[in-house]
Amino acid sequence: MLRLIERPCDGTYGLIHARLISITEYVLCDTTTTNEISGDIAPDMGAGPRPLIEEALHKLGIETRLGAGVASLDKSGVTLTNGERIESATVIWAAGMRANPLTTQIPAERDNFGRLLVDDRLRVQSVPGVYATGDAARAACDDAGNYALMSCQHATRMGAFAGNNAAADLLGVPTRRYHQEGYVTCLDLGEAGALFTRGWERTVEMIGAKAKKTKQEINTVWIYPPKAERAAALASADPEHVTEV
Ligand SMILES: Cc1cc2nc3c(=O)[nH]c(=O)nc-3n(C[C@H](O)[C@H](O)[C@H](O)COP(=O)(O)OP(=O)(O)OC[C@H]3O[C@@H](n4cnc5c(N)ncnc54)[C@H](O)[C@@H]3O)c2cc1C
Repeated sequence: MLRLIERPCDGTYGLIHARLISITEYVLCDTTTTNEISGDIAPDMGAGPRPLIEEALHKLGIETRLGAGVASLDKSGVTLTNGERIESATVIWAAGMRANPLTTQIPAERDNFGRLLVDDRLRVQSVPGVYATGDAARAACDDAGNYALMSCQHATRMGAFAGNNAAADLLGVPTRRYHQEGYVTCLDLGEAGALFTRGWERTVEMIGAKAKKTKQEINTVWIYPPKAERAAALASADPEHVTEV
């Protein structure tokens, strides 16, 4: 069985298709529809992690097709924009993320992902009383020009700030500025281990079994909601609460 994954378009960082490495047999292919026409695997991951991802693909015997997008899809496979035909019983198309269509009901400016533009309090500026957060919001997360990604890492903290600020607004007490300076990425590479990077430059910090253990901890502990206990829930919802990595 062959599976085909097309890389996300429009600036998403290509984690989903890189992560699908844990599926043993598939084809990666780059889209030709954006200015990111690239001959590289997971181009947005950067030069540091990329060789490790390529090595993992090689180790797992995964074929790649770069520089060509999906031209058409039918029940027996796909045809690429370069004319190549790939017979496939299963096709996984991971062509990028989009904000929930409910965002279109808010009369405000949105970005390419459909996310509402928000200010540093996570307010939708043009619509009084409306806050947006998580995948629905485009928010600056530091003073260095970085913006929150559509990720659990950002959504959990943004949710705490947005909830706090909406309540503060109603109570007439000061709101807090959303900020989230730390940024890490942990990419599962299936049988080939995992990859952990720190910072927006994605500097590789851990690989192999150590990174894999961290990934498992992230998936089973860190991204889980707190226990249904008042003190734990309130501590977790504190905007300044940070899970140090
Ligand atoms: C396959 C996949 C893998 C991912 N892996 C990772 C990862 O490894 N690491 C990472 O950081 N991020 C990952 N993400 C992204 C991450 O899941 C999201 O960024 C995060 O969940 C966003 O949180 P949110 O609260 O904004 O939205 P969501 O978690 O999507 O929550 C929105 C909620 O609103 C509900 N809802 C929708 N419409 C309505 C409606 N009309 N009325 C009421 N409720 C509604 C939905 O049911 C849902 O429960 C992944 C996403 C996907 C799809």
